[in-house]
Amino acid sequence: MSKSLILKILSGVLLLLVLITGIIVFRTLQVSHEMPDVEQVRYDDIDVHGAVKRLSQGLQFRTISTQELSFLYRPEFDFFLDFVVDSYPGIHRTFKREIVNGYTILYKWEGRYAELPAAMFQGHYDVVPVEPGTEDDWTYPPFAGTVAEGFVWGRGAIDDKSGIFSYLEAFEYLIEQGYEPERTIYLALNHDEEIGGRNGARKVADLLLEREIDIDFLVDEGMPVVEEILEGLEHPIAMIGVAEKGYVSVELEIHKEGGHSSMPPRESTIGSLSIAIINLKENPMAGRFVGLLRETFHPIVPDLPFIYRMALSNLWLFGGIIEDRLGYIPHTNAALRTTTSPTMFNAGIKENVIPQTARAVINFRIHPSDSVSEVVEFVRSTIENDQISVRVLEGAREPSPISSSTSEPYLAMKHSIHQSFEGVPVAPAMFLAATDARHFPEVTDNLLRFRPIRARPEDRGRIHGTDERIGIDNFGEMITFYINLIKNTTGNSDYVISE
Ligand SMILES: [Zn+2]
Repeated sequence: MSKSLILKILSGVLLLLVLITGIIVFRTLQVSHEMPDVEQVRYDDIDVHGAVKRLSQGLQFRTISTQELSFLYRPEFDFFLDFVVDSYPGIHRTFKREIVNGYTILYKWEGRYAELPAAMFQGHYDVVPVEPGTEDDWTYPPFAGTVAEGFVWGRGAIDDKSGIFSYLEAFEYLIEQGYEPERTIYLALNHDEEIGGRNGARKVADLLLEREIDIDFLVDEGMPVVEEILEGLEHPIAMIGVAEKGYVSVELEIHKEGGHSSMPPRESTIGSLSIAIINLKENPMAGRFVGLLRETFHPIVPDLPFIYRMALSNLWLFGGIIEDRLGYIPHTNAALRTTTSPTMFNAGIKENVIPQTARAVINFRIHPSDSVSEVVEFVRSTIENDQISVRVLEGAREPSPISSSTSEPYLAMKHSIHQSFEGVPVAPAMFLAATDARHFPEVTDNLLRFRPIRARPEDRGRIHGTDERIGIDNFGEMITFYINLIKNTTGNSDYVISE
């Protein structure tokens, strides 16, 4: 090869490298902030002291949802309903109140213009039980509603009594101020979210459908204001859950000849089923850094350290690396793909008997780009064993539709977050657990799952766990946010959104 040819090739490669580096740097520098300049809107005359007292009292009712023993706590539910009536006289005077199925409250605040599609707010006042044996681990007793160290402590402080009490405080405040909505408002306080919502939210949804009520959007519990979500990211981010994952449990079962464990066969039921489970765990369904997940990252990219910013703004080159990284962390992995978790394994009755049957249950949380039937097909093809039967258990649910993040209700919520939380960007995201909103896709397209609760990484274990608590300052922010949201969505026949 001649010298000049080598030089030509070298300079070509060099040029290509410079070009690629140029594109990477250009795209990295191109990402910029979208934080609009929104004026903060606060209310000095909110009675935070009184609000904290009412929340504290509300936490003392043992409105516990348990799968079998729910009747045990029924008197507590009745007392709670009376407590709401007594504590919010303005609401009781102004709203129409309907009790659905004995315990769910459905309030209606008639708007000035009946022809406008209605607004709806929803939450739940039932709570999960405190795991027996962990009562003494709590810093303050779980049903005492203790106010201490700047927090209100108790089961339900996060999920979801602070949510419904901040709605109630916001509405009571607006009534006292002489506020009149233009759009009709529904407020549902549900009683069985923690066990699936079939008797509360489902019945409310059926009722609204039956009455052909036009609901423009539904606000429900959901994602928080997340602090310290990623290393190097200094400010919090508010996430609005616009979708929920689907759900399916698959039962695997295998039968073989049993026998004495002194002469074990080459293949046993336990062995074959274990191999199948290992195959499923080691080969999860594909993860994709596309669509909603990309949108979630979009507003935080500008504030990330350079290396992340570079990777995230050059997905054409680093997409695969990003998917791998996200796949390692449990909560980002859950947003990336359909997750696989073996939850039950049963086989054997005696130490020296080879079991004839082995059975396992694998629980999948389905990503919006997959479906129940795709998961089942995936299970069959991954285990590659005709001896193992595959059965779908009851309760399977497809992933929810994805609500728009450019709709007017979404934008009004975003605007209200900016008004109430300074310097906090907003992103649409997928809610990884389930809410009562699952019963409402036929009622409205705009399902907005958001609670303005500040959540640090260490708070994750408090939800449904020990030492559940809400910051008093944060509770004040929640009330402020809902006042702003109600005004921005119902104060005018047009939604108030950022410029
Ligand atoms: Zn909840």
